[in-house]
Amino acid sequence: MRTKLIAGNWKMYKTTAEAAAFAEAFKSLFSASKPKNEAAICAPFTQLPMLKQALADSGIGLGAQNMHFEEEGAFTGEISAAMLTEIGVDYCVIGHSERREYFAETDETVNKKLHTAFKHGIVPIFCVGEVLAQRDAGEEFSVVGCQLAKGLADLPAENVRRIVIAYEPVWAIGTGRTATPQQAQEMCAFIRGEAAKLYGEAVSQDIRIQYGGSVKPENAAEILGQPDIDGALVGGASLVPDKFLAICEG
Ligand code: PGA
Repeated sequence: MRTKLIAGNWKMYKTTAEAAAFAEAFKSLFSASKPKNEAAICAPFTQLPMLKQALADSGIGLGAQNMHFEEEGAFTGEISAAMLTEIGVDYCVIGHSERREYFAETDETVNKKLHTAFKHGIVPIFCVGEVLAQRDAGEEFSVVGCQLAKGLADLPAENVRRIVIAYEPVWAIGTGRTATPQQAQEMCAFIRGEAAKLYGEAVSQDIRIQYGGSVKPENAAEILGQPDIDGALVGGASLVPDKFLAICEG
């Protein structure tokens, strides 16, 4: 039985003071409501140590939004997996479409990062998804299939069964244009099928597959009600405590 995971992706929003105020507000809402879905916040690096303390014993997970694949080295501006595990993060978003688009992330670097994350006990939230031109050309399944195969290359089954995969159609991110629940379910089922081909049925049934792209309180329940959708990766709506809580309750 897969527990649904609602992960907030804060992107480049919130100072430490703003993040602390969010954590206080969200923690009390979360403990009063005890939502049925798991929750995690993927915050900017500078907020992580404060959030680790603020969220201690709350049951709310903590994630980073990126990491380097090398153990350490002359990589100015980068953050290593060991730096993240020292803080105590549970998750790291890897291969988000904004990193693919603006920061030259490729399927190859994503694959290296997935290997490094597992080596350090960090559960990756591995993002895949097509752009609008690819969907319009009917290429969405081949694009996502290719991202999956290259991203997961040479990862052992015992790691892959713990992964979180986020299907985020790029045309639905931050646009207010959500995929229909049917489109989201269709792709998440496809992803599970591809995982089954690579790793077998049992492993594919353990993998949590999220939908992401303009998820909000108004559409969360229908999306989360789909059989192959095991949670959501939430951008804009995760910045507001009561909106994020409503999605966790969804
Ligand atoms: P959005 O972002 O919810 O603001 O569309 C989702 C994401 O980029 O993970």
